[in-house]
Amino acid sequence: TPLVVAIDGPSGSGKSSTARGVAERLGLANLDTGAMYRAAAWLAMHEGLDLADTEGVARLVEAADLRLELDPAHQDVTINGHDVTTAIREPAVSAAVSAVATNLDVRANLIARQRQIIAEAPDGIVAEGRDITTVVAPEAPVRVLLVADPAARVARRHAELGEHVDAEAVHDQVVRRDRDDSTVAAFHDAAPGVTVLDSTDLTLEQVVDAICALVPP
Ligand code: C5P
Repeated sequence: TPLVVAIDGPSGSGKSSTARGVAERLGLANLDTGAMYRAAAWLAMHEGLDLADTEGVARLVEAADLRLELDPAHQDVTINGHDVTTAIREPAVSAAVSAVATNLDVRANLIARQRQIIAEAPDGIVAEGRDITTVVAPEAPVRVLLVADPAARVARRHAELGEHVDAEAVHDQVVRRDRDDSTVAAFHDAAPGVTVLDSTDLTLEQVVDAICALVPP
């Protein structure tokens, strides 16, 4: 059976770069599940929905044509024909995404899509998010929870966004999203069998090495 590597972690834990690195190293596909929640939030905002209208947002997401490229070097995202690859990284989407991700009907729909994508990956896949090790792919042979000190996560996010972005604003974004996401129970502690990897003092290459070392022979 194709290898599934599941990686969870909070924002700024380095999980996107890590997942990409592991996928490239092992020749696997790469699924960024956060991009799916971001695309759902983008679409709800684009359609002018009130994000508190949970039924309306869920209906919109259930009907949406959501496509992700799974090549680690080329992870384009389109929803209902709109290429949202860059738009979903904008601060307005980051600020709104938790409101959509805490919508349980949206979660049920996206989790089903994620399971299908993972099941259909012919050469194996690295799936990355918040609830991959606990809910989406609890049977994956490699399951990792990536953690890092908040200060390290803020610094990484800052480097990602660029030095022109205000440090205070980045801190707010990371810490606020931790809090906004904290109502989803599946994001809490590591489930049994999940390897907790603290990346605070590790380089990206060291983290990728550590995860590849967990792959069964
Ligand atoms: O990983 P990223 O920070 O891009 O995820 C964006 C948001 O999507 C998270 O803050 C969280 O609200 C949501 N998310 C989720 N479940 C996942 C992945 C992301 O709820 N598996």
